[in-house]
Amino acid sequence: MELSEQNITYLTGVGPKRAEMLKKELHVNTALDLLYIFPYKYIDRSRFYKLREIEDSETYVQIIGEFLDWQTIGIGKKQRLSARFTDGNDIIEVVWFKGVQYLKLQKGVKYILFGKPSYFNHQYNIVHPELELLSKVNLETRQGLEPHYNTSGEMKAGWLNSKAMRKIIEGIMPDLKKGIPDTLPLSLREQYHLMDLTQSLVNIHFPKDVASLKKARERLKFEELFYIQLQILRQMKRRELQYAGFRMPRVGKAFNDFYFNHLPFQLTNAQKRVVKEIQADMRSGKQMNRLLQGDVGSGKTLVALLCALLAKDNGFQTCIMAPTEILANQHMETLSQLLQGTQTTVALLTGSTTKKQREALHSALQAGQTDILIGTHALIEDSVQFCNLGLVIVDEQHRFGVAQRAKLWTKNVNPPHVLVMTATPIPRTLAMTVYGDLSVSIIDELPPGRKPIQTLHYTQLRRDSINRFLREQIQKGRQIYVVYPLIEESKKSDLVDLENGFNYMREHFPDCRVSMVHGKMKPKEKDLHMQAFARGETQILVATTVIEVGVNVPNASVMVVENAERFGLSQLHQLRGRVGRGAEQSYCILLTRVELSKDTRKRMDIMVATNDGFRIAEADLQLRGPGDLEGTQQSGLPFELKIASLSTDGQLLEVARKAALDILEEDPNLETEKNRMYAAQLSRLKQRVVDWGVIS
Ligand code: ADP
Ligand code: MG
Repeated sequence: MELSEQNITYLTGVGPKRAEMLKKELHVNTALDLLYIFPYKYIDRSRFYKLREIEDSETYVQIIGEFLDWQTIGIGKKQRLSARFTDGNDIIEVVWFKGVQYLKLQKGVKYILFGKPSYFNHQYNIVHPELELLSKVNLETRQGLEPHYNTSGEMKAGWLNSKAMRKIIEGIMPDLKKGIPDTLPLSLREQYHLMDLTQSLVNIHFPKDVASLKKARERLKFEELFYIQLQILRQMKRRELQYAGFRMPRVGKAFNDFYFNHLPFQLTNAQKRVVKEIQADMRSGKQMNRLLQGDVGSGKTLVALLCALLAKDNGFQTCIMAPTEILANQHMETLSQLLQGTQTTVALLTGSTTKKQREALHSALQAGQTDILIGTHALIEDSVQFCNLGLVIVDEQHRFGVAQRAKLWTKNVNPPHVLVMTATPIPRTLAMTVYGDLSVSIIDELPPGRKPIQTLHYTQLRRDSINRFLREQIQKGRQIYVVYPLIEESKKSDLVDLENGFNYMREHFPDCRVSMVHGKMKPKEKDLHMQAFARGETQILVATTVIEVGVNVPNASVMVVENAERFGLSQLHQLRGRVGRGAEQSYCILLTRVELSKDTRKRMDIMVATNDGFRIAEADLQLRGPGDLEGTQQSGLPFELKIASLSTDGQLLEVARKAALDILEEDPNLETEKNRMYAAQLSRLKQRVVDWGVIS
């Protein structure tokens, strides 16, 4: 029977109960699935240490020796056993806290002791080592690199720990070694010097040596990245073949009138380049799917407007979708102002639009009297119908899921051009995977006259001097944001922090007006306070991260982030982007407690060191891994990454992407005999994703 058909229940060491657990915890159904549960580390079991060779507490060590003596200390649950173990030269303390009553140590007998030393009271000791009688171990056949597997808490409780996993997988090896069908054709394996699948799976679990393990890992990583790229790029090619894009070749009155008579400033070179790139897409006859990346404050709104004007010149409407009502309102305000005195019309649709307003809005839209519709999710509703929608602009992309974007496609006979704008710079590896089907434009230049924001990290002990500084800024006529983390909008304790902060500011700044906004407020109320701050009527805005995205108040020059340790890097960078929008020197003050973890300290240091969003995004990827990066949770990868890493396998990813592109250039539908295998594997992989969804 093929491994892909072998039910795990009948494997040695499994049985119905464990099979159930493996299904539930790891989504494993067959022997083959089990082979794709890869070890997370290996321990060299061919090496034996002398006690004096121990030099750190990170590595597992294996020592041959015997026990000198031992004693039980304490009583009942607190009981522990402390023993002295010697390799003949030196002595180390070995301790058990659990299962003391089952332990039967013998004197004068040689053991192999295996464990991780820890450093305590100026000496090493080993807690809960594995013990084997030396006489029972055949050192000749002993594994070199021993695989270790991640298991869940529930698995461990059922004794299905790493060791048990190892035993089960070891049991499959004889069948595997007979050979299984490869999932990459020989030609490709030869071209990229890849190990075959059977050998790769054997060596990933029980490596012959370090070199074989390396080859095995490389092959499995390549395959993973390759199929993701093949999937993404095939979809892109399909879309290109299937849909005609609206052709928008004209640059007409709307664009020219605005550009020459109403543009309040010179475009930056980056803005000009990006508009040209977008324009080329809109002219091409292919449907545009473009990602516009530009750091906060780089002027994406203006680019969006120019594109909308191009659409209008070709007889098409544009909709601009924003993730929050505040942002939609702000876009409305910005665009209405910019468009004053032009023939271009703009309307706003959000959750707060009344039924009556909505009716008027719908009919104007359908009659083609509205050129640009700005809104929130409300835009997606089926009742919103356009006369001739040609361009969809999604601002701050990461707040929208793929499905929501797709819904906008159906609002015209052909899918409209899509421009996705994001201020969260995305590292190249992520862009190639999560957004691998989008073309990318980058605004890498800020409008002139901006002074780089100064970022400072202080502990809360320095509050008095910070307050003095804030007072100075306010006296100069500046405004100040104070942001509190609100991880869950519903969490009471967070809201209490915010309210305390609000009261604190009012007490310590009696001459100032202080507003507060948070996501739990009614939109109307929230808007009132936001607007008051935007108009300069209040000097201090105490807020949650509702202000994170897009809000633009050029006179605000200080961003104070309270409990900054609770924010991720990209979020901190977003918050910082709320200041530095005017000509004044701006500041971002990160306030944390005194004691910080290593990771938190790193985050603060990076923030202080650089304003470059791309560097911050790369650092974020390194620190957190791609799964947690904003923007990836919703859009996700087409398949889960089990072995490759977007933080460290960038080069391999480039190679895999190129391999996939080469194949698709020749055969976009993977129809020829030699490419049929790819198509088959893709549908198998997709099948698996669907199955997993059902199980979890
Ligand atoms: P973001 O890319 O973060 O969305 P915005 O579009 O909100 O940035 O622009 C930030 C600020 O920069 C706005 O006040 C806008 O008017 C201004 N701005 C945009 N482009 C230019 C430019 N070329 N020259 C000067 N100021 C500009
Ligand atoms: Mg913006």
